Amino acid sequence: MINPAFAIPLSDRFREAKTPMIFDFVYGMFSNDLAIDLGTANTLVYARGRGIVASEPSVVAVKKDTRGIRRVMAVGREAKEMLGRTPGGISAIRPLRDGVIADFDVTEAMIRHFISRAHHRNALVKPRVVIGVPSGITEVEKRAVRESAQSAGARQVFLVEEPVAAAIGAGLPITEASGNMIVDIGGGTTEVAVISLSGIVYSKSTRVGGDTLDRSIVSYMKKQHNLLIGDQTAERVKCRIGNCFDDGTEFNMNVKGRDTIIGLPRTVRVNSAEIRAALDEPVKEIVEAVRTALEQTPPELSADIVDKGIVIAGGGAFLKGLDRRMQAETGLPVIISDDPLTAVVNGCGKALDELELLQDVSVTA
Ligand code: ADP
Ligand code: MG
Repeated sequence: MINPAFAIPLSDRFREAKTPMIFDFVYGMFSNDLAIDLGTANTLVYARGRGIVASEPSVVAVKKDTRGIRRVMAVGREAKEMLGRTPGGISAIRPLRDGVIADFDVTEAMIRHFISRAHHRNALVKPRVVIGVPSGITEVEKRAVRESAQSAGARQVFLVEEPVAAAIGAGLPITEASGNMIVDIGGGTTEVAVISLSGIVYSKSTRVGGDTLDRSIVSYMKKQHNLLIGDQTAERVKCRIGNCFDDGTEFNMNVKGRDTIIGLPRTVRVNSAEIRAALDEPVKEIVEAVRTALEQTPPELSADIVDKGIVIAGGGAFLKGLDRRMQAETGLPVIISDDPLTAVVNGCGKALDELELLQDVSVTA
């Protein structure tokens, strides 16, 4: 007689979740299961049993041949280097730029690239793949992501909304009946979400993110210094001296570009106070998105957030002073998650490892 407590129904698709840890460990060594954070700026891949195996810009360089057929030349870091530096016939594309899939074929090529790279060993087991997708994407886009992964060899594809994945990755207790606020500031979008009992109670995706900050620096340099700079230079300025809270310390940096009047290359010295002013508008929008979310949150959950604070993740969380600025404008504690750039992929990875959690948080297309 089998003790019913140990009997596992055969119909349970998520049986592995109840098997011993040692099995998970051994299975992990041989599995090809992957978790992918398909970000607008960066794609990260986590392999079960191996951890993060890839972290590269979400950029694909394509070349049109004489018959007009597009061929992928480079993906990731190498392709990003090409942004703004390509001759005719070659283009460096960011297929997910604004949090929507702008180019389906290129997105598919990118997913394929990352899956096959993670499987440089021969694919013994067809992998289960968990993919983090922006919470704002449409059903058509979800289907496209799913099909791309399937055609790249995935056996089963699970989609998890990025704010939920980020919250899991940041270690928030999202399965409990308690409010958790996560703000994920990526390249193309900022997603603000309130999560309780593994579900999204409120979420809003705004198309203001790191790219918007870069563009603000580009237009500031043009207006104030008559200097034309590229997006990548602007991003470097943002990461080096960008800031949004005056704490009394200032930094300087030399910025190279092309003079808009004489047309020749020129170097301009800028300070962090100028950049703070240049970034003020988009930073206000990000803070405003958080305030709106707080206003829309049911009171019991608001009370939880007062206690636990707001957790920020995504590369934008690195912007100097953002936590203090948000704290000053909301009156709530603001915590930068441990490793902002890996929160989403780690959250997807955790869902991959704990199938019960995956069942709770994955969305259907
Ligand atoms: P996504 O999830 O959309 O791919 P990420 O979470 O990877 O985006 O974040 C990428 C964004 O974070 C980029 O806009 C990048 O410029 C920005 N970022 C990275 N480091 C810093 C930094 N030190 N200061 C400000 N912004 C940063
Ligand atoms: Mg992201």
